Amino acid sequence: MLDIQHLKKTFGKNEVLKDISASVEKGQVICIIGPSGSGKSTFLRCLNVLEHPTAGKIIFDGTDLASLKDGKELDQLREKMGMVFQNFNLFPNMNVIENVKLAPMKVKGMSEAKAEKIGLELLEKVGLADRAKQFPTSLSGGQQQRVAIARALAMDPEVMLFDEPTSALDPEMVGEVLKTMKDLASSGMTMVIVTHEMGFAREVADQVWFMADGYLQEKGTPEEVFEHPTSERAKDFLAKVL
Ligand code: ATP
Ligand code: MG
Repeated sequence: MLDIQHLKKTFGKNEVLKDISASVEKGQVICIIGPSGSGKSTFLRCLNVLEHPTAGKIIFDGTDLASLKDGKELDQLREKMGMVFQNFNLFPNMNVIENVKLAPMKVKGMSEAKAEKIGLELLEKVGLADRAKQFPTSLSGGQQQRVAIARALAMDPEVMLFDEPTSALDPEMVGEVLKTMKDLASSGMTMVIVTHEMGFAREVADQVWFMADGYLQEKGTPEEVFEHPTSERAKDFLAKVL
């Protein structure tokens, strides 16, 4: 469903992504690992064109997103990609259910009653149905992140992109968010996840991609990448994090 061809992204003279080709099949869970500053976030942001690629193609449902200028067509394709960030980014002045139902109503023109119904079902799914009327600041980090996941799901996306969804959390909150993501993976959602949680990657990913120096240096099953890395860069990285 996503086909990335010779993706390149530079900021001024800084060549962050040099030449990346990869594809994501429907229902696959991809975990992207790699050292800090290697371009993982930039890569994810290129996938939904929050950053415009410098060169290359991102074919999503048959359309090259990289060739589109900001505008209606790009927005409509972006709506099919849910994104969850490290810092939740919930709207602080809205309660939980308002956060979840806003985009379906505003962007899709869904009726408030329907958005509310879907929103409550999604909150149920992430274990927060009883928190619908609370404001984000009254929730723990783990709960806020689960609301952010429900909010992204409310747009009924074809693929979910996660950028280090647990790195801003206190250790005791990490498990509940990973559990929510694991349930989502089991339900068949296509997911691309930048993460430092190697245990999660090993257990849940269909494919692990190791990024360093502007390239995907390794792509394979968790077993292949964690047990039999081929590049020195990956061996070195894994020796430090495993
Ligand atoms: P981390 O693990 O710390 O989150 P990362 O792998 O996500 O790192 P990126 O945030 O993608 O790495 O950054 C890769 C490089 O791109 C860095 O050198 C960063 O300074 C640069 N960069 C990222 N975004 C921009 C931007 N908007 N303008 C200029 N440079 C940028
Ligand atoms: Mg990052």
